[in-house]
Amino acid sequence: MQRRRFLTQLAGLAAGAAVPRRLVAGGRAGRIVVIGAGIIGAATAYRLAKRGARVTIIDRAGPAAGATGRSFAWLNAEFSKQPLHYHLLHRLALASYRQLEQELPGLPVHWGGALQWFSDPREAETVRRQVRQQQEWGYPVRLIDADQLGALESGLRPGKVLAATFAEQEGFADPAATTQLLLAHAAAAGAELVAPCEVTGLDVRAGHVAAVRTTRGDYACEVLVVAAGVQTPALAALAGVAVPLVPAPGLLVHTAPLPPLVHRVAVGPAAHVKQYRDGRMVIGDDLGPPSTPAHDYLKQQPADFPDEGHGELHRRRLLAAAAQYLPQLADAAVERITIGWRPMPKDGYPIVGALRGCPNAYVAVTHSGVTLAPLLGELASLEILDGVEVGLLAPYRQARFVAD
Ligand SMILES: Cc1cc2nc3c(=O)[nH]c(=O)nc-3n(C[C@H](O)[C@H](O)[C@H](O)COP(=O)(O)OP(=O)(O)OC[C@H]3O[C@@H](n4cnc5c(N)ncnc54)[C@H](O)[C@@H]3O)c2cc1C
Repeated sequence: MQRRRFLTQLAGLAAGAAVPRRLVAGGRAGRIVVIGAGIIGAATAYRLAKRGARVTIIDRAGPAAGATGRSFAWLNAEFSKQPLHYHLLHRLALASYRQLEQELPGLPVHWGGALQWFSDPREAETVRRQVRQQQEWGYPVRLIDADQLGALESGLRPGKVLAATFAEQEGFADPAATTQLLLAHAAAAGAELVAPCEVTGLDVRAGHVAAVRTTRGDYACEVLVVAAGVQTPALAALAGVAVPLVPAPGLLVHTAPLPPLVHRVAVGPAAHVKQYRDGRMVIGDDLGPPSTPAHDYLKQQPADFPDEGHGELHRRRLLAAAAQYLPQLADAAVERITIGWRPMPKDGYPIVGALRGCPNAYVAVTHSGVTLAPLLGELASLEILDGVEVGLLAPYRQARFVAD
């Protein structure tokens, strides 16, 4: 999430290159291979399959094995989503979730809004300005006082509150279960999931991906969709294209079921929390790793801690941070603690669309991907199956990095 460090300094995107017409040259007969069964690959595969495309999803591990299964999964259009076009993309994405709920009964999404509060005078000042700006953009977020905060979440002990906000249209997803549901509906529409199966190479002929090479043989494709999270740069490089990401790890503690403690996403200065209907809670924070020798191993982007000691340290640290607001968390039983790698594009914005120089390869990689997935899946299916350029995606083309 990293909202406090990832604020208004983001700006100035160059509009990217055009999406080539008719990615699926021969109508819908050819196979579309989607690399990645995270939430972006699942949402894209679902939309493509539902429209009658022949879709094969390939994942080296399995559904939601990457960032998706390790995501806090707050569905939001909050202050870090700057400038207006990026904020609006998230607003549309929230609307996409509401639409998806109609289509897929049982979608594991919890609405109820999101609360944030701030104890640092500078941040409080900034957020007051940002609330104003978002209201001018027509977004239903408002400043609330400590009493209103207490009325919305009576169990919360927020400590010093210099500013607090309530965004009533936000919520959170169970990201792994959402992905599974999308994949199940993609399968019902004819898509095939092949996992575990690692893509190890691309058969590129005259700037066109003819097939993907995998640990389970070659898969011919008419269109390739790369939705491989932090592995996207390595796969795009096989087609000679740069998709620059920066490392952005994040830790989450997942507790065993607890009695009801919070009903909304609650984001405080020291920790953020959410609680599923079954009582399980997820706790995260915005701290990045310090650059100490103990953290050198992070350069390999590991999926786990090097030993139990490190995991235990972070378990205690995150529980103590969250217990400032919810004392019951101090000795909560923990089921797992996850390290996730956010697919964070170099400039912070999504990279979506056909790759320049390899026009039948389509990439979709982004932070905030749980929020954006249903919308991006829908827009990608339009671009791939109808050969249109969706104007909403113009700021997010890979071509903006070509000068790099
Ligand atoms: C700690 C944390 C907190 C976050 N909080 C939020 C939040 O509050 N709200 C929000 O919207 N977003 C949040 N995000 C971001 C969000 O989780 C991601 O943007 C999103 O999950 C990305 O989904 P994806 O499908 O693109 O990638 P992934 O979920 O990483 O999926 C990529 C898949 O590709 C597969 N793969 C990779 N290489 C290969 C290969 N060579 N062959 C075959 N398969 C391959 C992997 O196994 C993986 O399953 C958070 C992320 C983290 C880590």
